[in-house]
Amino acid sequence: MSPEKENPLIDESLAAESKQGGDDAAGLPSRLTRYSRAHHRAVEMADYLSEAGEVKLGRNLALCGYYLLFRDYYTVGKVRLHAAKFCHKHLLCPLCAIRRGARMVKSYMDRLAVIKAENPHLNAYLVTFTVKDGSDLAERFDHLHRSIGRLHKTRHGKGQWSEARKASAAVWSYEFKRGQGSGGWHPHTHAVWLCEDAPDMYKLRAEWEAITGDSFMVDVRPFHDQDDVLNGFLEVFKYAVKFADLSLDDAWHGYQTLSGRRLIASFGAFRGVDVPDDLTDEGLDDLPYVELLYRFVRGAGYEFSESGPSAERERPEPPKTLVERVLPRARSAATTDQKKPHWKPAIEPERYRSAKGSD
Ligand SMILES: [Zn+2]
Repeated sequence: MSPEKENPLIDESLAAESKQGGDDAAGLPSRLTRYSRAHHRAVEMADYLSEAGEVKLGRNLALCGYYLLFRDYYTVGKVRLHAAKFCHKHLLCPLCAIRRGARMVKSYMDRLAVIKAENPHLNAYLVTFTVKDGSDLAERFDHLHRSIGRLHKTRHGKGQWSEARKASAAVWSYEFKRGQGSGGWHPHTHAVWLCEDAPDMYKLRAEWEAITGDSFMVDVRPFHDQDDVLNGFLEVFKYAVKFADLSLDDAWHGYQTLSGRRLIASFGAFRGVDVPDDLTDEGLDDLPYVELLYRFVRGAGYEFSESGPSAERERPEPPKTLVERVLPRARSAATTDQKKPHWKPAIEPERYRSAKGSD
């Protein structure tokens, strides 16, 4: 497949996040570079929103991923994102879009493995439906949404054949970009269909034209290697990440128009897949780790801020907020007296000297 390359970095981000080894310690620098580009876009959007009077939303975006706390499981060379504050505005915030997209890819890949174990004859196809470009985003979305609904309904109609009947399960997303040439909104859906018999693209195009009245554009691509359907799922679940390709004006308009709509849907055995809301990584139980804290610096990206000792499982520390970890503790009035240090040395100087035998 040849995904559009208007913003290779964004496409790369979700792929890099989703592929095996995405949490390798050696990949942390490039991972931080990706997150940093993503958050820079969120900061630009935050500025835009503040100027538009959306101060609270802008602040949520600016603070999303401001600190990232990783755990470096040094015995196995894995680094997991343990804590961060997320805004969950995935249509406006690329960092949330990437993290959430990766979660979706993983959840649906896991479900696919279960489905294929039950029916090894099912094959995956990437099926893309397009409607004609138009200037009114809400109207175009409704048209696409309705048309997809009508097509899927033919799966159950009596006395009529539809290529959609070949799909026993599907998951799809609604994606939006600006049409090349027309400049209008170009809505389309990317779907993963599971079929025993290959859907016929030309028959599907005829059905689609009859339904939409304005577009016959359907593309069907089989996954030749059925064990590697990752690319297909990436295509489906990058819809929110693609918002970062839009101008700030368009992204804001898209968010206002579509944030209440369901942009992901499914039928058959892909229904009811549970995608966790939590955007951090799962920890690796029972393994020692070192904590690595990074702070976002505008213009520079993520900078190393502090690393902690490996955790002691027998004596877990009470959880601290990120702010407590980073900000120096406020000094009380008593500690401003220079003669009375408010800290105690780990070992007293006298004992140290006697232990060394130098006194
Ligand atoms: Zn966010």
